[in-house]
Amino acid sequence: MEPSKIELEIGVQWSWQVVCVTIHYFRVKMSENRGGFVDSALTLLIIKVFENKGILTMTKCAKLLTLIFCFCSFMPINGNCDTEAVPFPGAFGDRAVPYQERIDIMNRLESLYELYGTAQGAVSIHEKSSRIKAEVVGTSDSYPVYKFTFGNPKSQNRVAISSGIHAGTEPLAVVVAMKKLEEVVRRAQTDDDFYMVVYPLLNPWGFLKGTRHNSDGVDYNRVQTPNTVAEYVKSLARSLHGEEFNIALDLHGGIKRKQFFVIRAKDDDGLAARSLSVLPQPLRLESVSGQYPDYAEYKRDPTRYFMSAPGIIQSNTEGTLKAYMLKHAKESYSIEYPGQLERKTVIKKYLELIRSFEKEATVQTCNKRISA
Ligand SMILES: [Zn+2]
Repeated sequence: MEPSKIELEIGVQWSWQVVCVTIHYFRVKMSENRGGFVDSALTLLIIKVFENKGILTMTKCAKLLTLIFCFCSFMPINGNCDTEAVPFPGAFGDRAVPYQERIDIMNRLESLYELYGTAQGAVSIHEKSSRIKAEVVGTSDSYPVYKFTFGNPKSQNRVAISSGIHAGTEPLAVVVAMKKLEEVVRRAQTDDDFYMVVYPLLNPWGFLKGTRHNSDGVDYNRVQTPNTVAEYVKSLARSLHGEEFNIALDLHGGIKRKQFFVIRAKDDDGLAARSLSVLPQPLRLESVSGQYPDYAEYKRDPTRYFMSAPGIIQSNTEGTLKAYMLKHAKESYSIEYPGQLERKTVIKKYLELIRSFEKEATVQTCNKRISA
């Protein structure tokens, strides 16, 4: 008995599924997983070529179903991947920093620590530079968490920079922190009137696995509270004991955004607005009548996040590092880079923005403003 037209179509669909899965498998093998969109487009292209050559005829309905199946089954898997063959098939923005670069960054941190720190992780001043020191303040999923200290501890220009608490899904923040480290290593050789502390990578495991959380699924940026029992948070708190800053900047990324924005912990007398003016207006997140656009947590509870001006959101969510840092800093911010902007532009503008914050927070700038 001849198979019916419907049976033939179903058969064609399934054989295309096999083709799709095979393509997908090899692409994942090559660590080039670009998710459902590319795979679906590729499938469509192959179908088109076969149709044009007369090898295959496929009704529109079967084609559409194939694409839907294809898209659904190939949607990127989020976080917690344990195989290195699929290092980070997670959210948007991940691919800005490939796996090998992440390994290189971790190696670079280790060598910087060897250069400026001690094997015990105790505070030490390296003879090569009296102005740079490195410590291991604790571990996160068995990886060391580093703290670098630069400049003159007596200076009144005091800045804290932390990065990589969401390293896996906001990896460019770590790349920027590394660039900052290099910049400050140079600065420390000549400038005697600044003091800076940098935590370049607060969640190393997440960085390698492409996830926002640690291996226990904990979001470190929700557990930074004084009464915490988490050893990781306690060790971070110990490393901050006695530290005081004019400003604390925690580097993040809004991975689906096209514009920069900052989240301030409290009213700041216009410091964020002045700092943000270094960015061209189209690169600052638009304010839509006080709303924090397209943010799930805002939608659940609009009182927690308030957009006070273009590019500036106010929120003091308990458990964030930004909120915690108010214990040590006069002003505290999260800075969020746009994950949908080209990598080179992000890095350049991000560094300009950090410098702008530093400048606005210096004693000289503050005094000038008061006397004006
Ligand atoms: Zn983040």
